[in-house]
Amino acid sequence: MATGDSDLKRNMQAFDQLKEIVLVVNPEDASVLACNREACEQLALAAADICCRTLCDIRDDEYDAHRWQQYVEAVRRKAGGSSHHWYLRAGGEAFAVEEMAQSVCWDGRERLLISARDLTARASLGNEEISDREPLLRFVLDEATDGMWDWNVVRDEVFYSMPLKRMLGYGPYEIDHNLFTWKDSIHPDDQERVGRLLDDYLNGRTDRYELEYRLGKRQGGYLWIHDRGLVTGRDENGRALRVVGMVRNIHERKQMEEQLLRMATVDELTGLLNRRAGYVAFERLLRLADRDRDDLSIALLDLDAFKTINDHYGHSVGDLALAMTARVFSSRIRASDVLMRWGGEEFLLVMPHTASADARQLVDELRTTLASTPLETPDDRIHMTVSAGLASRPQDGLDVGQLVHAADNALYSAKSQGRNCVAASH
Ligand code: GH3
Ligand code: MG
Ligand code: MG
Repeated sequence: MATGDSDLKRNMQAFDQLKEIVLVVNPEDASVLACNREACEQLALAAADICCRTLCDIRDDEYDAHRWQQYVEAVRRKAGGSSHHWYLRAGGEAFAVEEMAQSVCWDGRERLLISARDLTARASLGNEEISDREPLLRFVLDEATDGMWDWNVVRDEVFYSMPLKRMLGYGPYEIDHNLFTWKDSIHPDDQERVGRLLDDYLNGRTDRYELEYRLGKRQGGYLWIHDRGLVTGRDENGRALRVVGMVRNIHERKQMEEQLLRMATVDELTGLLNRRAGYVAFERLLRLADRDRDDLSIALLDLDAFKTINDHYGHSVGDLALAMTARVFSSRIRASDVLMRWGGEEFLLVMPHTASADARQLVDELRTTLASTPLETPDDRIHMTVSAGLASRPQDGLDVGQLVHAADNALYSAKSQGRNCVAASH
């Protein structure tokens, strides 16, 4: 297993408090790479036993490579789509779930993030013999955790159910029952997409209206929701007369997802890009520079005698010193520069559109700024210095490996020259 995937497993703990099954699946062969605690509980299996199965095993479905690839394609095309399956518990008992899948980029590779919730409780309610549906309807409308809406297109009236109002923080009589109430509360960044998908569906260009977006809450802020709708009546020209829909609160899951992605790319101590994510950004900038035959310079910056800071003040003060260094550097670089934590007390700065002379000037400014910004602790002011090695394309190399190698050699000579200085590779 690649290191990225073992990190992934560790980071899945972020999903442990979620009361839904969360699985991370390899799109190539359906194998499960990581799962949260709820998955272990519901499937009655240890994480290690879940991670040696495929999603098809869990779904009690035969794995068929062609069919699986069709499924993955569908997930890629339609973020936020849901589907129903039976999942198998260890004892062989099956339970119905609603599954949502989306394709995410983890560590430069594609993964499917699957979340599934148990529908058993709802299914059993639906299977009962019901002579009078009125109480059931009222129950579902008022007590369901999902919100519901019912849009009468002709009269331009929308009914919003109590749980939907509650979800958004409104009292029972606080929402005007028209379409604008909904439209106006959609997050500005989502409005175009929501409008387009709804229009496509209403006009028969697609057969489904289903997506994730943000709705404004009464007390401010936005809530991530999953919304889907169904046209239940059309006139003789095919115009939609009535549309009903269901809204599910997915805010917590979205936040976990964002946290997971952040953890995959950001170095926790310094808040900078970590080495893997930085490497990807570096490669992208290098490709652009190649295409445009543009200048690009890099600098490896290594704190001087950092071991003595740890030895003298302790590791946690060392950590503070690293975080402060990152802040000092970040405040001085330009918006187009990319700074990452390359390793322990080493940083890599990528400067697009920058030839070596300008790079030297910028990096020397980072050096002098750090030297004049001590870390203030309750008992001391700790002074730090940094040495840096520069390399530039095309003269020092054309790929990441060559440039880093050249910058590393230059850094070595900066250290040999007595530290607290910047050296170039040629
Ligand atoms: P030089 O000037 O030659 O670079 O000397 P140095 O002491 O900085 O270099 P050396 O490579 O000998 O030591 C690097 C030190 O950085 C050792 C290691 O404990 C410390 N270090 C690396 N990562 C961290 C970290 O995340 N937190 C803390 N506190 N220290 C770290
Ligand atoms: Mg070092
Ligand atoms: Mg060092």
